[in-house]
Amino acid sequence: MDKSDILRIDNLCVEINEKEIIKNLSLKIQSGEIHAIMGKNGSGKSTLSKVIAGHPKYNVTKGKIFLCGDDITDEEPEVRSHKGLFLGFQYPVEIPGVNNIDFLRLAYNSKKNFNNQDEIDPLSFLEIIDQKVKEINIDISLINRNVNEGFSGGEKKKNEILQMSLLSSRMYILDEIDSGLDIDALKNISNNINKLQDKSNSLLLITHYERLLSYLKPDYIHIMQDGRIVYTGGSDIAKQIEKHGYRYFTKNNLTE
Ligand code: ADP
Ligand code: MG
Repeated sequence: MDKSDILRIDNLCVEINEKEIIKNLSLKIQSGEIHAIMGKNGSGKSTLSKVIAGHPKYNVTKGKIFLCGDDITDEEPEVRSHKGLFLGFQYPVEIPGVNNIDFLRLAYNSKKNFNNQDEIDPLSFLEIIDQKVKEINIDISLINRNVNEGFSGGEKKKNEILQMSLLSSRMYILDEIDSGLDIDALKNISNNINKLQDKSNSLLLITHYERLLSYLKPDYIHIMQDGRIVYTGGSDIAKQIEKHGYRYFTKNNLTE
């Protein structure tokens, strides 16, 4: 295995309720790279991201998933996260009764614990949060509310970015982070993602829209159809997809 592989998926097949949803999918993402997956509704994009994160509902019937060289195919979601995987949800969940800052500190310290590092005390954590809040330009009052409860769409996405920047992961998977955002919020979020991205980590963006990809320039765009990656190209194909639709790139149309 190449040392710079952050994520490697080999011949993955996934079922839910005995229906095959991911069909022999392989993907390799190296450090410093940005990849995007595009595709019609129902093509399996969210399923793929949830399987990588270890969602228990899905059944991996074949294939393997490696994170930084470790086989994580059968690992618990927490272990995957501690090992450097971050999944930003399309619909971030509300957690009633759980204070946002307590939740963030718990996540932060649990990762420290896993890596045999010292936990951080509440006061020092507050200083880190203060800094991040300024960088991300998130409303400070959201820090003391319950996790995502009553947050607007844009506020939920900013909160995802806050979590993302605190956990300093290696592989960030963002599922439709752009959905429901207005143009200013999209720019703000893209800027913050760009700041987090460097040579040591990687980004997998799942999106419908070309617009996000003009702010976060991917090295590769994969088109997914019916549980498979049917086409891989450079960042330039986003514009063509916008113009011609996905059909243009699917098997039957490649020769047109
Ligand atoms: P996308 O994110 O590309 O829109 P999804 O991964 O959400 O697609 O869905 C892919 C396919 O898997 C769809 O046909 C969907 O109906 C099916 N699917 C997803 N979750 C379930 C489930 N819990 N039970 C049955 N089918 C599911
Ligand atoms: Mg989806």
